Amino acid sequence: SLPAVDTPPAPARPDPLGVLGVPGEINLDHAASAPCARAAADAVAELLPWYASVHRGAGALSRRCTLAYERARQTVGDFVGARAGDHVIFTRNTTDSVNLLARALPAGTTVVTFAGEHHANLLPWPRGSVRLPVPADPAGAVRALAAALAELSRDARPGLPVLVAVTGASNVTGEVWPVAELARVAHRHGARILVDAAQLAPHAPVDLAALDVDYLALSGHKLYAPFGTGVLVGRGDWLDAAAPYLAGGGATSHVGPATHEVRWATGPARHEAGTPNLLGAVALAAVCAALAGADRAALHAREQALLSRLRRGLAALPDVVELRTFPADAPRVGIVSFVVAGRDSADVAARLAAAHRIGVRDGLFCAHPLARRLLSEAAARTGRTDLPPTALRASLGLGTTEADVDALLTALATLP
Ligand code: PMP
Repeated sequence: SLPAVDTPPAPARPDPLGVLGVPGEINLDHAASAPCARAAADAVAELLPWYASVHRGAGALSRRCTLAYERARQTVGDFVGARAGDHVIFTRNTTDSVNLLARALPAGTTVVTFAGEHHANLLPWPRGSVRLPVPADPAGAVRALAAALAELSRDARPGLPVLVAVTGASNVTGEVWPVAELARVAHRHGARILVDAAQLAPHAPVDLAALDVDYLALSGHKLYAPFGTGVLVGRGDWLDAAAPYLAGGGATSHVGPATHEVRWATGPARHEAGTPNLLGAVALAAVCAALAGADRAALHAREQALLSRLRRGLAALPDVVELRTFPADAPRVGIVSFVVAGRDSADVAARLAAAHRIGVRDGLFCAHPLARRLLSEAAARTGRTDLPPTALRASLGLGTTEADVDALLTALATLP
């Protein structure tokens, strides 16, 4: 699904979104939250004078806001390749989207995930979910899933629904998972598949139809839109049959006088009770529209060049050890986690911030099972006994420059 890396970068503007930033601050923490795009800020500023209720008023302001909200839904759906019959449900973020789907599963559904997932794609799933070990390479993931699904349909729970829930790109390693192949395997066994695209969507086109994926979740704040908006996109049947995620106004088509006399709406409204986050939806749609019009192959090539520079530079530092699941040359987005042997990661991160105005993340990245495993594997691979118990993560975005990467490398090379 990623554009080829070896196409020469087109002389495109490096940043088509006009990502905002603060001069002098080097932000290498895009995987946590990306800075806001000017496109999003402009869309919000344009709508602010019209600010009025959505789906709840007859006035001109309200009608315009309702239209803007529904257009935003269409734009975001188009951006991720939503098909006829898919619902585009606005949520707060990826965590909210995955929880929504978890609540909408038909009774008896088994969820199959890998242990490398972010907590948002591990913890919402019901008891009885299957957590497969982290594979050694992408082909291993496909094989492991095929074996697990064959066993489920043959022996364990024949005839019951199965949902495979996988990340598109790891928030720890940046490694890209073979989503299209996993979807093929899932469908061959009659299962459905959710892709957690929180980290993939900011770096590469994600198209539900092209990947043949059933559900997709993403967060606006990782996609250069403001906090507070995400989406769950995918097949409508389970969602329309499920109890509403939130009960309240907007999610109903009829409420009678008797307690519990209620008909719930179908479609996205069923799970969007309460006054919606219009500005968030419009901001996210503005980013999607800008990215849809951008030369994403060129952006990808530019990011890959920066990522190679960063990884080569880290590899040249004798005490730095990169964390990875797959072989070193497996496809990745612009995220690298690493440790500095003999150094506490929180101390290194604090020093980068205080002495160099470089922002990175430290810790276990809300993926404790994976991060702990990669730390112990890194110790085994390098034979070093002085690796710290938590890691550092540098993540690139549209505004990142070679100078930013070099500043991080120089700062790490000159730690006192
Ligand atoms: N999945 C992945 C892969 C992530 O990186 C994140 C955020 N770190 C999430 C899910 C959760 O996103 P949010 O915090 O926006 O709900």
